Amino acid sequence: MTTLVWFRQDLRLQDNPALSAALNDGHIIPIYIQAGDVDTAREGSAARWWRHHSLSDLASGIAALGSRLIIRQGEPLAELQKLILQTGATAIVWNRRLEPAAIAADQIIKAALKADGMNARSFNGNYLHEPWEILNKQGQPFQIFTPYWKAKIAAGLDFSIQPAPPSLPPVDQRLESLAVEALELLPNIPWDKNFYLEWIPGEAGAWTRFEQFLPKIDDYAEARNFLVGTGVSKLSAHLHFGEITPRQIIRHLLDMRGSVLESRGVAHFMRELGWREFGVYLAYHFPHTVDTPLDKRFNRFPWRDAPDDLRAWQRGQTGIPVVDAAMRCLWVTGWMHNRARMIVASMLTKNLLIDWRLGAAWFMDTLVDADLGSNTAGWQWTAGTGADAAPYFRIFNPMLQAEKFDPEGTFIRRWVPELARADTKTLFAPWEARSTDLLSAGIILGTTYPTPITELAGSRARALASFAQIKKY
Ligand SMILES: Cc1cc2nc3c(=O)[nH]c(=O)nc-3n(C[C@H](O)[C@H](O)[C@H](O)COP(=O)(O)OP(=O)(O)OC[C@H]3O[C@@H](n4cnc5c(N)ncnc54)[C@H](O)[C@@H]3O)c2cc1C
Repeated sequence: MTTLVWFRQDLRLQDNPALSAALNDGHIIPIYIQAGDVDTAREGSAARWWRHHSLSDLASGIAALGSRLIIRQGEPLAELQKLILQTGATAIVWNRRLEPAAIAADQIIKAALKADGMNARSFNGNYLHEPWEILNKQGQPFQIFTPYWKAKIAAGLDFSIQPAPPSLPPVDQRLESLAVEALELLPNIPWDKNFYLEWIPGEAGAWTRFEQFLPKIDDYAEARNFLVGTGVSKLSAHLHFGEITPRQIIRHLLDMRGSVLESRGVAHFMRELGWREFGVYLAYHFPHTVDTPLDKRFNRFPWRDAPDDLRAWQRGQTGIPVVDAAMRCLWVTGWMHNRARMIVASMLTKNLLIDWRLGAAWFMDTLVDADLGSNTAGWQWTAGTGADAAPYFRIFNPMLQAEKFDPEGTFIRRWVPELARADTKTLFAPWEARSTDLLSAGIILGTTYPTPITELAGSRARALASFAQIKKY
């Protein structure tokens, strides 16, 4: 019996339930299909860069074990049907994707393949639990993180990890495959050159990153807040592409420590992995929230149509140093620190009163870890429109955030070099600085660095007044 193993968002060979199940049944052919027009995950340019390299790594790994990754491009069901005809396969397996549009597409594919007589099976590859397994006492989905996380812990975790297979059966050389390059996932203009300095996509790169983080994990609970980003794992894109799984991470920590809950840092890190699951859980149970606010009052919110302000935010030219540093870091590296994500999202949705969906779309295009579940939840949380949200009136003060979480100004100096010579007070709020301090730091506001596009106290008051308009509904 030949089984097609359809790789999608699980670009790894270890702890891959679909692959393990197929290998138990006999001969396998590993396949990958790059969807044509309909992208069910809304993957943007930076994530496509990652996918290119992660796929190349997977293809090399499969080749090293004696097989071949067969790569095709087009509408998935049609491509699968062609492959079934070409290979005589009678079964197909994959690990599930959970974005709402991906679920809908998969249901159609599974039904059609079963109708053709195929044994089609799907597995949970990338999460600790399935979203339908964790419900409150009334059988309803949780909307608040802490009880959700407690319910997950109570449900127990399965840590039986399958190792990578020692070898794979060969695939007939006549079976055609595209080269990864033919998928044209890389950008035409080389804006990605710095990504190569930051990231090693693929399974081995994921483990290297995890091992680099391990010595720092006990300090994670405090260090995770600092914007320089040395206290966090930077595993998000590896997790998103399924190069490493939360199960593997927790199992590894258990093997190392015996108990993962003794260290505050380890416990906090696990909880953050829980936030990743909560994002996709919300998208699964409330699929409309990837496009509309969970809190329906916000359907009437008077968002501003302000393309110039949006562009200044995107380009890191708002005149608010910590915001500009974060947005430039995102553009250059494809990643941004979690606290920085909250600061810039609050600036966009509250001080600039721009719809969170425009910010979320920019993140989906520029983040290497762009993930519909986590991104939607992060934006709705910060904008105050979502589940378990920071209340709308809680508006981040970027100056105070910078003082607290970039106390030496290291992060801002790195990403906004035109302010690098300023003392920290000037660095956090150059518009409040004395002209002599600006001059000695070589700063001319409006020339070498923008004057702020919004006045923080005034725009905060405007945001609160706008919220007052919808509060009554
Ligand atoms: C507005 C906004 C948008 C976001 N968009 C995304 C996104 O598109 N993709 C994405 O993976 N994360 C997103 N996040 C969550 C979080 O910022 C990133 O996961 C985290 O910064 C990644 O860095 P790290 O791997 O070093 O995290 P660590 O602090 O090392 O955390 C370990 C892992 O836990 C998960 N995690 C940590 N914090 C969160 C969180 N708040 N929500 C969900 N998962 C979390 C990630 O998988 C992360 O890799 C967003 C947050 C906000 C506020």
